Amino acid sequence: MDFKKYVASVKDFPEPGIIFRDISPLMYNGAVYAQATDKIVNYARERGTEMIVGPEARGFIVGCPVAYKLGVGFAPARKKGKLPRDTISVTYDLEYGQASLYMQRDAVKPGQKVLVVDDLMATGGTLAATIKLVEELGGIVVGTAFLIELTDLHGRDKIKNYDMYTLMQY
Ligand code: 5GP
Repeated sequence: MDFKKYVASVKDFPEPGIIFRDISPLMYNGAVYAQATDKIVNYARERGTEMIVGPEARGFIVGCPVAYKLGVGFAPARKKGKLPRDTISVTYDLEYGQASLYMQRDAVKPGQKVLVVDDLMATGGTLAATIKLVEELGGIVVGTAFLIELTDLHGRDKIKNYDMYTLMQY
């Protein structure tokens, strides 16, 4: 399956000079979405995954069907002000400014084997922040999985000590 046929590359979005990789065509096609999900499910099984964690918002789109198919739970890492109960947070640097991600304190059990999932890794900042949250809760990050990796940004270097699975590279 050539998954890249189902990614739309949008020039100058959200800013001039950026090529945005839009995964909507993949999501809109049930058979392709299922195949992409199954690939990550196989990887998740190999890693002994007991829980999926995905950052807002496209991490939910990729992570939830994987969790359902595996029969494990899904916990979101969310932006500020979204989670109603006791949370922990991490602040990380963006190209311009900073961002924060939050997880509820009971989202991951100590010792639980967690797979971190998102649609795309660029600088790896979101991934590194999500890993930090999981580990602060006592979870063991057994792997990370993405539909797309932007290799020029060397995000892998930020998370050298973690296994990574990606379906497409640009
Ligand atoms: P990073 O933190 O690795 O620099 O950026 C990754 C995060 O930004 C992911 O949560 C991802 O959803 C979003 N993102 C950044 N660039 C793109 C893009 O070109 N396409 C998509 N689909 N998401 C992007």
